[in-house]
Amino acid sequence: MELLYKSTRNSDCKVTASQAILKGLADDGGLFVPTFIPKLDVTVEELTKMDYKEVAYTVMKQFLTDFTEEELKKCIENAYDSKFDTDEIAPLVKADGAYYLELFHGATIAFKDMALSILPHLLTTAAKKNNVKNDIVILTATSGDTGKAALSGFADVQGTKIIVFYPKDGVSPIQEKQMVTQKGDNTYVVAIKGNFDDAQTGVKNIFGDKEFGKLMDEKGFQFSSANSINIGRLVPQIVYYVYAYSRLLLNEEIALGEKINVVVPTGNFGNILAAFYAKNMGLPIGKLICASNDNKVLYDFFATGTYDRNREFILTMSPSMDILISSNLERLIYFIAGQDSEKNAKLMNELKTTGKYSITDDMKAALTDFYGNYAKEAETAKVIKDIYDNTGYIIDTHTAVAATVYKKYVKETGDTTKTVIASTASPYKFTRSVMTSIDEKYGTWGDFDLVDELSKLSNVPVPNAIEEIRTAKVLHDTVCEADEMKDTVKKILGI
Ligand SMILES: *Cc1c(COP(=O)(O)O)cnc(C)c1O
Repeated sequence: MELLYKSTRNSDCKVTASQAILKGLADDGGLFVPTFIPKLDVTVEELTKMDYKEVAYTVMKQFLTDFTEEELKKCIENAYDSKFDTDEIAPLVKADGAYYLELFHGATIAFKDMALSILPHLLTTAAKKNNVKNDIVILTATSGDTGKAALSGFADVQGTKIIVFYPKDGVSPIQEKQMVTQKGDNTYVVAIKGNFDDAQTGVKNIFGDKEFGKLMDEKGFQFSSANSINIGRLVPQIVYYVYAYSRLLLNEEIALGEKINVVVPTGNFGNILAAFYAKNMGLPIGKLICASNDNKVLYDFFATGTYDRNREFILTMSPSMDILISSNLERLIYFIAGQDSEKNAKLMNELKTTGKYSITDDMKAALTDFYGNYAKEAETAKVIKDIYDNTGYIIDTHTAVAATVYKKYVKETGDTTKTVIASTASPYKFTRSVMTSIDEKYGTWGDFDLVDELSKLSNVPVPNAIEEIRTAKVLHDTVCEADEMKDTVKKILGI
């Protein structure tokens, strides 16, 4: 059966999966959502016999119904290969009373690789299917990890260019170095004087600029998005929750049908939304635990039913979660509004004009799958140290936000359901914050001395992604004001 996608702001606007991937965002500014969430068409026992790629095909074929078997399998083969440093792709590590789903074994050592390794293949396949002649320009705002993962995925991909905007002072030193050393004739990296929300808003405005779109078309270009608003990112993220469940069953950690909880360190709400979709596909998931850092706009939303971005933007040591506008929440709002696009559009318009909105009691009642909490900086640091002291396992700062919130959840509820924590980055990506959490004495050490020390403490070899940048040359040094993003794009494209 063909699954179509519709805009969260206009249910009459329907497109195929490949068209939704090409467009990124709907013309009305809404996000594409599937017209229904398909149920898994295999049993969980069957899943235990599959490897990661087979699970990926099983899940993705139900969402991307206009891709042929051959096309989709080719995309999957090209994505989940030796770019990952483990055959398992997404291994589960049992530590400190939970299962850490390590999503950071790809090329750029953050979970964004799970989707961005496959997105370029989905996108170029979609372009072929739809007879697109223009070059595709990927425009991306990043809080650090998406940028590098997208650059790495799209570098030297025929028929594409990629432009990444990141907040100059809002990413970790390693994240910045990873981006500005990116090779590839079609890659462009720009720092903006502003925060992540400024970058994301700038990108959304460029996408929404019809006149600019026309000019682009005349010059043989068209935009697409590698941000997590693209369903081509969301769908591959559903896979690892299904995979994780099947591995727990395979390893006899859970019984058939036993529910698990999932904790996700959340920023733009993409990762946890994928878990929500997995649950709606029929995967036995109990609670979806949404973990925030000091930018706790989502915690407040789950607690009160009011989303309010009018607050100070706080820079934390989990920068990929420093976000006040969680774009993908719109997909959940639409869902709990009974797929009423008018109702959703009204709330999103309020968000745009006043910076906040409140949902109705009915909508709030539909949020019982979710639990939200947040971690303060000192709590996050303490959890990194405690888990290291107790088990020798070292987690990154984002994962530590999730671990902290998980502890709060258990304390509050006494719920002993087995729990998967999405481990979203390698500790090597945030070495300085991780190491100073373990011991303040590391504060004066150099970045790469810390890397070597982390390897010693954790007994985990330094990943390739880090070795590469030790000596890499800076290839990108453009900086612009937040309101100069459009001009910068024009300059880059020569139009
Ligand atoms: C992007 C990112 C997150 C947040 O994920 P969302 O899908 O935006 O909620 C969390 N941790 C890390 C390391 C990330 O890169």
